[in-house]
Amino acid sequence: MTACVPPSFAAMRSELEARCARIGRRVQVMEVCGTHTVSFFRSGLRSMLPANLRLVSGPGCPVCVTAQRHIDAAIRLAMEERVIIATYGDMLRVPGRMGSLERRRAAGARIFVINSARRALELAREHANETVVFLAVGFETTAPATAATILEAEREGIENFAVLMCHKLVVPAMCALLDDGPKDAARADSDHTAGSAAGAALDGFLCPGHVSVIIGSQAYRPIVEVHGKPCVVAGFEPMQMLAGLVHLARQIEEGAARLENVYEGVVSPDGNAVALELMRRVFVEADVAWRALGVIPQSGLELSPRYRRFDAMRRFGIVEGDDEDDPACRCGEVIQGKVEPAQCPLFAGRCTPLTPIGPCMVSSEGTCAAWYRYGRAMKEAAR
Ligand code: SF4
Repeated sequence: MTACVPPSFAAMRSELEARCARIGRRVQVMEVCGTHTVSFFRSGLRSMLPANLRLVSGPGCPVCVTAQRHIDAAIRLAMEERVIIATYGDMLRVPGRMGSLERRRAAGARIFVINSARRALELAREHANETVVFLAVGFETTAPATAATILEAEREGIENFAVLMCHKLVVPAMCALLDDGPKDAARADSDHTAGSAAGAALDGFLCPGHVSVIIGSQAYRPIVEVHGKPCVVAGFEPMQMLAGLVHLARQIEEGAARLENVYEGVVSPDGNAVALELMRRVFVEADVAWRALGVIPQSGLELSPRYRRFDAMRRFGIVEGDDEDDPACRCGEVIQGKVEPAQCPLFAGRCTPLTPIGPCMVSSEGTCAAWYRYGRAMKEAAR
């Protein structure tokens, strides 16, 4: 029986096949965000790609890139008297050096799962005698909501609200992959191939639609102009992702590096001005630690001086610690696209979604979890 697919889909698939054949070598494209990773698997599109087109997952899953030191800070905060932790559910099971928030909750800590920053502020209103600490994770997609919530707290004089800042920025991380890698001296010494070597092997980037709605397609200019790598912004439907790959393959075949956007109905060149202004008002860019990658310059957000009183670390005198990942865990290489999950010795053995060792196995958008769930790891590792 022949699969019934819309002609335009078939035509794009044929074009992708033909272009990859003409390129005549392995083509490596990074899908930067976890939503793309999962969508490629879930839609079946991944299994329909040309044999010489390799998709590698990037550092765009917020749970996967949250450093152990920040999980440990959240655990320390949860141990404080009269503190409630408000967090998205995925963060509960991410292992830090001190265990996980889930374990701390089982031991009696007051940890609430919420689905928005605003709900955290509501909790602060409902629990006036306690301090509610919101774990602010995510990229530019969620950072504006955190900023708006802090402004609301200030406006209403709600002082029993604080945030643990873990927001990160996508483009600096992409640049770091292409530059000189992580900045933690110890990690850089032991992982000298991170950064430029991994980045040099990439032929282009499929850029995330949702982040791009906020930052605008022009935000990727440094990747194209400084690093000479093609970038195409795409949404998350199969047609969008396939169109994005076709545009990338055209550029790679031509030897070009352009910034293109196949999600134009949603993503504008300059992004969402209101959301960007919210972030500018409340945050400043800062050097921050990424899980297994070390510190990347200007790759995260911290509160600007006017709003620092909402910083949970300062308020409770918590000092940022160190990271100590399981030496066998290869999350750092997975999120740089250097290895595939099945190449980790712990994959599907000690590390499963029920017993995660690294963060990439925790989130539904984590690369290892996606490979585990969709059962393609072994087969694709051999490609
Ligand atoms: S399989 Fe587990 S331990 Fe290995 S890289 Fe993935 S998350 Fe880390």
